Amino acid sequence: MDLPVARPLNLGLEVTRPVQAPGAAKSTTTPLVTTSRISAVLAVAGLARCGVLRRATAVKKKGVRVVEGKEIPWNLFSPKAPYQGSCISKETITSKTPLVNWETCHVIMDHGGKVPYIEGQSIGIIAPGPDKKGETPAKIRLYSIASSAPGDDETSKTVSLVVKRVVEVAGKGWCEYSNVPKGKDPEFPDAEKVYRGVCSSHICDLNAGDDVLITGPTGAEMLLPEDPEANMIFMATGTGIAPFRSHLRYLFHDKVSKGKFKGVAWMFLGVPYSQSILYDEEWKEMQAEYPDQFRYDYAVSGEEKSEKNKINGEMWVQHKMMQYADDLWELVKDPKTHVYMCGLKGMESGFAECFQERVEAEGMDYAEFLKKMKKDKRYHVEVY
Ligand code: FAD
Ligand code: NAP
Repeated sequence: MDLPVARPLNLGLEVTRPVQAPGAAKSTTTPLVTTSRISAVLAVAGLARCGVLRRATAVKKKGVRVVEGKEIPWNLFSPKAPYQGSCISKETITSKTPLVNWETCHVIMDHGGKVPYIEGQSIGIIAPGPDKKGETPAKIRLYSIASSAPGDDETSKTVSLVVKRVVEVAGKGWCEYSNVPKGKDPEFPDAEKVYRGVCSSHICDLNAGDDVLITGPTGAEMLLPEDPEANMIFMATGTGIAPFRSHLRYLFHDKVSKGKFKGVAWMFLGVPYSQSILYDEEWKEMQAEYPDQFRYDYAVSGEEKSEKNKINGEMWVQHKMMQYADDLWELVKDPKTHVYMCGLKGMESGFAECFQERVEAEGMDYAEFLKKMKKDKRYHVEVY
């Protein structure tokens, strides 16, 4: 099988990042995520009047939250009063595999500039329901935003999601519950039991023009660092790629921001089959334009084996990373490197599998090393 192959390792660290002499004055390069840019995002919703962000606000302002001294958009719309947006487009971006839950959709929604967000945040979606508890409308479900703040069309009026359609069928993997009357499922009429995820089906069934109820934005764990010379290691499983698409479009695609980033970004995506790979064309384009600053690698569990995987012998994100452990370890040790994980919970222990031995070989304690990474705010995890 031919997997898309990233170019040989040439991160160009020395080439792209100016070396700072010991004791030299702090770099004066423009921050990667500037306060004026966040102001602009907030101003779209009329939240920052003078364009200057206030630090450590004494009075709690509605619709913003102070994170590391900066105001970011926060819960402008609640589950009780959601924003009614509309679907601009919905596209299935995976193709069929032996799995019943093979389908993942890219959905672009219009928020009319009323739901500003920054890269790394999430929004909530309220489906009509009934949900699994019988509630109508359904309880909100959170989705990581897959677009950068300007949106895919760069108008700052759209938000994109990447959503996997939850489908569970008796006899074809795990299936405990059923919400489709027996014999009535269009795809699996003969199955004993079928469960279709309520919100994921709602989103994956949207058509252009349909209404969508949006809450949020929320989330501060996956934001980009300010330092334009920071490096990023992104670890994603499946739709966990969402925040990284948001980041990467900001770093390497959008007119307002591309060219500012001076570090390197290396993304690892784990998926079951090559038909499940997400946004491959976009990564190819970014890599062609920024060959020394961006690379990506895929771990395709259903098609590649790894003897390092003691659980099922398949290639997962962390096992792919082990193939480049020497280079990655140099990056992980660099205080300018931020590690991000999004998707399945198992990735956190996967990161430990990758680096614990190296940490210990250099005389450090892994728990302490991790604690320091967290304290330095360069270990970002959103998994469940
Ligand atoms: P549900 O209908 O809620 O079903 C979910 C599960 O509940 C099923 O496995 C079902 O078998 C089980 N169930 C059914 N009935 C019962 C019962 N009676 N008791 C117990 N269990 C039952 N997903 C994405 O696709 N893309 C994203 O970018 C994304 N981002 C996320 C970001 C965050 C921060 C979080 C927390 C989650 C994210 N998710 C994302 C997951 C998403 O929020 C939903 O959980 C997912 O889409 C499934 O929702 P659903 O309504 O379709 O499924
Ligand atoms: P998927 O396409 O099914 O891919 C998951 C991949 O990860 C498969 O290759 C799988 O291998 C592999 N894998 C399984 N266990 C693993 C482990 N312990 N460590 C590393 N890799 C492992 O993914 P998915 O179903 O979309 O799953 C993504 C999950 O992330 C979903 O539960 C989704 O709801 C969640 N999510 C969370 C956020 C967030 O918190 N912000 C955002 C987006 C998505 P096998 O084939 O061997 O199982």
